[in-house]
Amino acid sequence: MRRFIGALSALIILLAAFPAPSRASGVPSLPDEALLTDPIWARAGFEGLALLFLNRTRYLLALDVDHRRGVLTGKARVLYVNNSDVPHSEVIFRLYPNHPVHQGRRMRVSAVSVNGMPTSGQIRDANGTVFAVPLAIPIPPNGTATFEFDYTITVPAGSNFFYVSEPFPMVAVYDHTGWRQDVATKGLDYAYTESALYAVRIRAPSNYGTWFVGTLKSAEHHSDGTSIYTVVTGPVRNFVLVQVRGWRVIAAQGAGVPINVLYNGDPVGAQEIAQISVASFNYFDRVISSYPYAELSVIATRFPSGGEEYPTLIFVNNDRTSIYRRFVTAHEVAHQWFYGIAGNDTLRNAWLDESLAQIAGYLFYKHTGYGGVNAAEEYWSHILTWYNRITTVRPINTSLEDFRDFSDYMSTVYGGGAVFMRQLGEQIGDGALIAGLSAYVREVNLGVGTPMQFFNAIQAQTAQNLRPLFCLRVGIMC
Ligand SMILES: [Zn+2]
Repeated sequence: MRRFIGALSALIILLAAFPAPSRASGVPSLPDEALLTDPIWARAGFEGLALLFLNRTRYLLALDVDHRRGVLTGKARVLYVNNSDVPHSEVIFRLYPNHPVHQGRRMRVSAVSVNGMPTSGQIRDANGTVFAVPLAIPIPPNGTATFEFDYTITVPAGSNFFYVSEPFPMVAVYDHTGWRQDVATKGLDYAYTESALYAVRIRAPSNYGTWFVGTLKSAEHHSDGTSIYTVVTGPVRNFVLVQVRGWRVIAAQGAGVPINVLYNGDPVGAQEIAQISVASFNYFDRVISSYPYAELSVIATRFPSGGEEYPTLIFVNNDRTSIYRRFVTAHEVAHQWFYGIAGNDTLRNAWLDESLAQIAGYLFYKHTGYGGVNAAEEYWSHILTWYNRITTVRPINTSLEDFRDFSDYMSTVYGGGAVFMRQLGEQIGDGALIAGLSAYVREVNLGVGTPMQFFNAIQAQTAQNLRPLFCLRVGIMC
């Protein structure tokens, strides 16, 4: 992801010398399919990863953000591949902007076609997040189809900050239980997604900062006050579009890839976030696995839930104490590995990213000495805040829907899961735990990891039989 705020003055000089042709506002043309494997998204040496996703579902998106009308208008071309072993007579798409967490945001599909033939879809749930497109001829295993959509999403008119996650119809995950149509409301995460290649063209007002998952390939600036940004993501499991006006950027120094911190509010807090982003990134990059993307963006602002993770882009709350900022930043940076690279079923095995991000942050503090001698205790107080709220002891591997409520979920997964991981490190040694975490991430490698894969990765590091412990605490391998 890239920012344009700092580069505006240079662009203005360029524009004066070579005024771009004026172009009517509206949805830009779809990006070329060849862009999906353009290497710009990748850190040097990782370009080839994109090729592994060419026989999977891919997305070409064109978005037009109209701040005055408060509407994002989109076109999506979904190059669908049936990677299951059964034929599909319909394909389920998720319209995640309609999830109730977004309170009043509406996404509407106005046209849909399959292989160039207009058809119609059907909303399947009360919230409008499940959109079924029937097929005249079923798609066999390994078969392909091209879906095209026209749609709109409401956005806050005139706002200086908003973001839209998954601003397109996204193919639902199809697993051994069928099409996943969960509308998860008990946790913080609600989208269960798989890695895919995206090429995106975005038209947005030139006086806004436009940030996104992925890396900027090119920018065109038009005399009507809009710019068109072409973005390539490489294999990522989410896409998010961020719009800001009047914010600042810190180009953090010293990380293995460029890290840019976009912020409003407290500049001292933003600097702290930049520093711990670099330090924690370098630690995970070294001990867990190499980060494959070209850059990382950190959006620091008032963010009530604490933070939020997307591949190559995280949100971090910049509105509380230094101790809290550091804790949240380390956790969200860790999600680049435990969620971004090692994905998971976020709704049925939420601990595989949340408990692991929690313990990864702790290991970073403990083994780098970051923040001073009491750093581990500083970090751990946030774990205990949740752990001490456990009222019903449950297996850590409990499905989101089987928790009573948000507190039940958070205390078990963010508190209990992290406490279990720390005890595991004390039992087998932190070195073995870190080696197991690394082996797990490298095995999952942009796929969807399972509890058994995690267990096997840890068990391989020790002669101790870990089955009874995992059965008792996690509720697996029994
Ligand atoms: Zn998290």
